[in-house]
Amino acid sequence: MSKSVQPEEIAQNASRFAADRMLGRLVKWLRVLGQDVIYGPHLSGYGLIRAARAENRLILTRDRRLKQKQPPPYIYLESEHFEDQLRQLIRECGLKWGDRLFSRCLVCNSILQTCAKDTVKKLVPPYVYSSQEHFSWCSTCLRIYWPATHQQKMLDALEKIAVP
Ligand SMILES: [Zn+2]
Repeated sequence: MSKSVQPEEIAQNASRFAADRMLGRLVKWLRVLGQDVIYGPHLSGYGLIRAARAENRLILTRDRRLKQKQPPPYIYLESEHFEDQLRQLIRECGLKWGDRLFSRCLVCNSILQTCAKDTVKKLVPPYVYSSQEHFSWCSTCLRIYWPATHQQKMLDALEKIAVP
């Protein structure tokens, strides 16, 4: 457990994170798990602190100097590898996913909406349309998602990460 953050603060803030801009791969994985994570080029140093305060989010960082800036609760990630980072968060925040898996846009963090197959006919490649039954879409960035082999690969990878 990082000394920077108390268990009750984690419980309050878990699943609402503000990630430092150097944590791109971790962010993608957290969103796969359905966690609410803001991330972007403006999120480092004071920008990160401001954003976390404004939305009451738990900061994730690899920046050792952040603590000199009197940040709100944060978790310092010990490893530079996203697998270890994710493992640390699963351990320290008790992250669970279940039916929240693949519920969030990996690119912009919005919650995905399910959509009827016939509404995406012109929007996805023909082989995808003919081979898939379930689609969801992001109403913010308009990306369309469907379960495919990459999702299964992600689940396999996740299993290895979560159960070391
Ligand atoms: Zn999106």
